[in-house]
Parts: sequence; structure tokens; C-alpha cells
Amino acid sequence: MRYPRCNLHTHTAFCDGKNTPEEMVQAALAARMDQLGFSGHSYTPFDGSCCMSPDRTEAYRAELARLREVYRGRLRILCGIEQDFYSPQPALHYDYIIGSVHYLWRDGVYCPVDESRERLQRAVREQFAGNIYRFLACYYETLAQVKYKTGCDIVGHFDLVEKFNEGECLFSGADYRYRRPMLDALDQLLEQDVIFEINTGAMSRGYRSTPYPSAYILRRIAEKRGRVMLNSDAHSKDALMWRFDEAAQYAHSCGVGGLTVPDDAHGWRVVPLGREA
Ligand SMILES: [Zn+2]
Ligand SMILES: [Zn+2]
Repeated sequence: MRYPRCNLHTHTAFCDGKNTPEEMVQAALAARMDQLGFSGHSYTPFDGSCCMSPDRTEAYRAELARLREVYRGRLRILCGIEQDFYSPQPALHYDYIIGSVHYLWRDGVYCPVDESRERLQRAVREQFAGNIYRFLACYYETLAQVKYKTGCDIVGHFDLVEKFNEGECLFSGADYRYRRPMLDALDQLLEQDVIFEINTGAMSRGYRSTPYPSAYILRRIAEKRGRVMLNSDAHSKDALMWRFDEAAQYAHSCGVGGLTVPDDAHGWRVVPLGREA
């Protein structure tokens, strides 16, 4: 199935990715992409490992501005940011914002959601009285506010809490204690007309066999005419359009009629699924 040759969820060596932006740009050209958006992790004061410091953020913006000039006419390069819920609001303009919840705040402690299964289980034990459904409810209650908090255009990896739950080894996705807060968050975000991403990042890094979000969630987004785009959450140059063909078929099978991409005037347009962008 054909799909837009565009990815807006891209990490580089400025945060926790492997390659430089220019290496990513060259890989995008080799893959005949039309648009490549970068989304470095926003500065998060309590996280020293994955995010960009204020100085690195400045260097990241300057490097993307340089590349935009060098590659003008060959590839459209966008400068975005993956804005964590608990990051200070950026003072400067970005072409787009991906709003993500990577941490929950509980009793004065920031609990990472997607660092490792062990870290998640420790947070459940220590901050949520051993009850994973409280952890999950807290995640979706936080995510429901992500548009207000970050001003995002796109919601990052909607059901990120599924990352370590392959085969339902941690919790049941059908349990009402999971479904209720998840559907509340989904409906609130649908009303705010944010763009949902089909994110293949956890597949490329070997955590999941299917993209975010799960099929029943994507079907509900499609039923409510929510906007959807394909993103790879690439952390290396070989993952820029990771299994997009499969992801486009997945979208189609869930009733998604078209995929959202940036248009030339910094707005958005929908490309009907199955046709060339
Ligand atoms: Zn993320
Ligand atoms: Zn990301």
C-alpha cells in the first residue's frame, strides 16, 4: 500500500538518537522521502539521559536551520520538538509539537513510563501501592491534559504504557480499570482535534510486534474521524519509515481513510490512504 513519504518523529544524537541530523537527511534522500521532521526530546530538568539541555536545544535548532538551507528544493525539513508533559514550555517557535507523557508525577517523584519494565514495576510498587491499574489511570489522566499543557499538534505514542505489555504480561487491556481512563483520555483528545500518530518505534527497537495505538483504539479514532499520521519515532537512520507499508495497511484495516501530513503553508492536509502523496 502506498503512503506519504514523510516522518515527523525523529531523534538524533542531539538527544538519544544514534545519528546526526545530516546523516538522517541523507538517509531520507536515499529513501526518496518528501518531508522529514525532527523532534528532539525537550529539555526536562530531572532527566539527564534522553533530553536536550538548553544549550543543545539551541545547537539543534541552528543545525536544522543550516540543513534546511543546504537541502532546500531536495527535501522539506521541519524543526519540531517532542515536548514532554513535565518540560518547561519552549519560548521559541517550532514548526510543530509532539506532546508526550514519559513520566508520571506522584508524591514528589517522577516515575518513568517507558524506561524499562523493571523501572515501571518499581514505580507501581513504590508510588502506586502495587496496583498497576492506578498507574495506568494516572498515565491517561495526565495524557488527557497533554494538549492544554504542551500546546501540541500531535499526541505522541498514545498507549505508551503498552510498551512492556506484549502478550498482556503486565495487565489486561480489556479490564475496565484500564479501558475507562484510556477511553476518557481518547475522547477528550479527539474533541480537541489533535493528530494521533501510528508509531512504529517500539517495533523497530524490538519491544512490540504491532504499532501504537492498539487496533481497537485506532478503530475508535477512525470512527470519530480523528486525524492520523504515520511516524516511526526513529532513533537511527535505518528506521526513518520503519514498516510504514505494514502500518498503512494496519490503518486501512482499522477504517482510517487518510493520513495527515504537513502542507506547504505550515498547516496540515490529508492524503487519502492508498494514493501517492
Ligand atoms: Zn516519546
Ligand atoms: Zn520520540
